[in-house]
Amino acid sequence: MSKVLIIGAGGVGRVVAFKCAQNSAVFTEVCLASRTKSKCDVIAADIKVAFGYSMSTAQVDADNVPELVTLINQIKPELVINVALPYQDLTIMDACLETGVHYLDTANYEPQDEAKFEYSWQWAYQDKFKAAGLTAVLGCGFDPGVTSIYTAYAAKHHFDEIEYLDIVDCNGGDHGKAFATNFNPEINIREVTQKGKYWENGDWVETEPHEIRQELNYPNIGERASYVIYHEELESLVKNFPSLKRARFWMTFGDEYLTHLRVIQNIGMASIEPINYEGKEIVPLQFLKAVLPDPGSLGDNYVGETSIGCRIKGKKDGEEKTYYVYNNCKHQDAFDETGAQGVSYTTGVPAMIGAMMVLTKKWTGAGVFNVEEFNPDPFMEQLMTQGLPWHEQHNVDLEVQ
Ligand code: NDP
Repeated sequence: MSKVLIIGAGGVGRVVAFKCAQNSAVFTEVCLASRTKSKCDVIAADIKVAFGYSMSTAQVDADNVPELVTLINQIKPELVINVALPYQDLTIMDACLETGVHYLDTANYEPQDEAKFEYSWQWAYQDKFKAAGLTAVLGCGFDPGVTSIYTAYAAKHHFDEIEYLDIVDCNGGDHGKAFATNFNPEINIREVTQKGKYWENGDWVETEPHEIRQELNYPNIGERASYVIYHEELESLVKNFPSLKRARFWMTFGDEYLTHLRVIQNIGMASIEPINYEGKEIVPLQFLKAVLPDPGSLGDNYVGETSIGCRIKGKKDGEEKTYYVYNNCKHQDAFDETGAQGVSYTTGVPAMIGAMMVLTKKWTGAGVFNVEEFNPDPFMEQLMTQGLPWHEQHNVDLEVQ
């Protein structure tokens, strides 16, 4: 018997709402709120048709703490699932503290005027959440999220010490568009155009964007050019698993995608510095977002699948061993089930499961937590039945050099 408030009605919000409705024994009441209420209404209507489940909807500006507090006091949820944008993390955390409600998100806070991916702002809430006796779950999507839980699961069950971690993220899908991003274009382009960074021997090593490239093979997809980029879960994983000698994150990009990205950067359209255009201040990247395809519209003809996993090397009983754990998700299956493509699906399902973990008290504790700090077992069990089954391989060639 639990009530949740979901904030954000994009591709990920749609999937979270669908999955909560499918798990109505846990999520007995849901309110879906966002800046544009009509988007919530469309999702709620689709869910009513699909499952006969009624959820309420609301309008909220999540940049505004008093507005959030009013809504939370009116709905009285046990937990807020934040799937708006990373810019709203702190205001929603503040509102949760003020109203005594647990918090969960899928992406770390970013100031809008500075593309900086780090947990410092949210970790600074540790004492406040502790004192309030509330749980804040950070980064509960796929990456961060499932990749962090895969790592915790491997460390718990298959290794005495994990030493080398390579998170590999392949989108082997084709949406038929010349250029589009799979989630919010502004957030996505900020992430993939920054310098690369990985952890080695106790320090961060910085690279030029897309400097390290290797062909890697992905199950059921084949060989894809993969690039080392910085990704936020690395920061908490190296802290929580200090035995790691090296931790990297690889993402696949097609040549066509990278060419578009290079042009976008070279002509200044990826800039987050405001410019004056005909008397109005605009941010080039935000303008670009407005003309690019809405990621939520990509589902219809999206074919192919994603494959995201962890390739780990370390020691077990004094012997060296390797381990690969991954999930493959077909865009078409995700669309048929929820009306959203695979990237939204692989983010929304774990957010729902994380919420379920808190509501069913499988994950407890007062404070701010990255997901790998909790028991991975009940979460891994749910992944199997909620649409993201995982597979594991022991002592295989991990390929990564
Ligand atoms: P979208 O841009 O599709 O949706 C974002 C939603 O948030 C929209 O409904 C938007 O409203 C709403 N929103 C934005 N600002 C506000 C505000 N001030 N107040 C209220 N609502 C607001 O994004 P996605 O669904 O693709 O992504 C959602 C989140 O998931 C992002 O934080 C993203 O970084 C994260 N993510 C995490 C991944 C992971 O694996 N961990 C992978 C992919 C995404 P409106 O429609 O009015 O603009």
